[in-house]
Amino acid sequence: STDTLTSLLAELGNIPVVTDPTIVRRRSRDFFWYSPVLNDQLNGKSADLIVTPRDEADIIRVAAACARHRVPLTVRAGGTGNYGQAVPLAGGVLLDITALDTIEWIRPGQIRVGAGAKMNAIDAATQPSGYELRMHPSTKRTATIGGFVAGGSGGIGSINYGGLRERGNILAARVVTMEPEPRIIELRGDAAQKINRAYGTTGIITALEMPLAPAWPWIDVVVAFDDFMAAVEFGHAAALADGIVKKLLAPITWPLPSYFGALKSCCPEGKSILIAMIAEPSLESFRNLLGGRGTITLEMPTDDGPSKVPLYEYTWNHTTLQVLKSDRTVTYLQCLYPHDRLLQKVEEMRTMFPDEVLQHLEFIRFNGQLTCSGLPVVRYSDAERLNEIIRLHEAHEVHIANPHVYTVEDGSRYKRVDVDQLGFKHEVDPYGLLNPGKMRSFVAER
Ligand code: FAD
Repeated sequence: STDTLTSLLAELGNIPVVTDPTIVRRRSRDFFWYSPVLNDQLNGKSADLIVTPRDEADIIRVAAACARHRVPLTVRAGGTGNYGQAVPLAGGVLLDITALDTIEWIRPGQIRVGAGAKMNAIDAATQPSGYELRMHPSTKRTATIGGFVAGGSGGIGSINYGGLRERGNILAARVVTMEPEPRIIELRGDAAQKINRAYGTTGIITALEMPLAPAWPWIDVVVAFDDFMAAVEFGHAAALADGIVKKLLAPITWPLPSYFGALKSCCPEGKSILIAMIAEPSLESFRNLLGGRGTITLEMPTDDGPSKVPLYEYTWNHTTLQVLKSDRTVTYLQCLYPHDRLLQKVEEMRTMFPDEVLQHLEFIRFNGQLTCSGLPVVRYSDAERLNEIIRLHEAHEVHIANPHVYTVEDGSRYKRVDVDQLGFKHEVDPYGLLNPGKMRSFVAER
């Protein structure tokens, strides 16, 4: 109620807040509109106010006040999530965490940083010492490390290190609990998985310790092929060539490249493409492996400075965005192919939906195996047909992490929440105030 919010505001003292309803409504959104299904469900949902803490002490004060007054709190970072992850379903406070961006330390292969730090800033800080983040989403230029760990799964670099869920990819996390007297908990090693992809329902992350990878001079490469399967087969060969150092291998079927705006000059009519990032010393071996199988149409050092559009912004979830820019009738899916029948299953899905599901794959490591994540662009007719397409994939052993649902459980491949995460939530958020409605298995105790 208004009274509750007034007393909450009084307790926040001089912590900056935004109450202008137009701004609050706008910032309560993320990229859920990718999904016509979520767009119907989430449009119009909004927080009541935005609080902008300046440091961890401010966050503790906000958490204490919200817990005392039983006001919901949803953390917002870069706001680039795809499933309404940062959309408050029950109003309350939207906590803008982006001021917590301090780098605590950098050591060889490791960094400890405020959760609100942008990934681009992290790489810029560590690259001079020869290191960079092991992986980043294609939204690296706007997304934060905390948002990636709380809402993302993997991305550019996952071909070498797998996703965030692989042991060792998150070294530690510091979280503030949602209680009248908030505690600070340091989760180290495997325990840090309790906050991975929990959409901020298991604590407010204030700092993260992340492992780093060697920072190679990366070269953006586009290769054109007559046929999509030729792009997939070559991508597979390049992925398996351990001597060729890479960070990205993404086969994309024609006609998707016809939507690629500024990249169109590198995308010949009718050709499927492979987008790659190859370490400069490996480029010659990459070209040798390619031989006459395809034609290189772009070779350029990766540059993701503030005003640049790097090649990786045509890959991962950006492929769909490039198409959505001129065609709002499409949407997408997130598939995981079985590693032992990869090419066969890709061919099967392509044959089953020749014009309706347009193939886009990302080579990744998963559970120690090389496989593909599929992020196909889907020509949307209605929710029923979309569910049928999902069902047909699963019937053919191509697993789906459904991007058209907003709970942690429904978005996971197993349709359930990790037991550790659910148990941890009871410890850190007993009243169920953190991003309420997103972890549907949780029932508040008090
Ligand atoms: P937000 O969207 O602000 O938040 C994401 C979730 O994390 C929310 O639930 C929020 O409440 C929670 N959260 C944020 N910070 C904290 C914190 N400090 N403590 C607790 N909870 C917190 N994802 C991938 O994994 N790989 C990709 O390649 C990828 N590509 C994308 C491409 C496009 C075009 C788009 C629109 C999205 C893409 N995404 C991808 C999804 C998203 O961009 C990433 O997951 C990104 O890392 C989210 O970071 P953010 O700072 O924008 O987080």
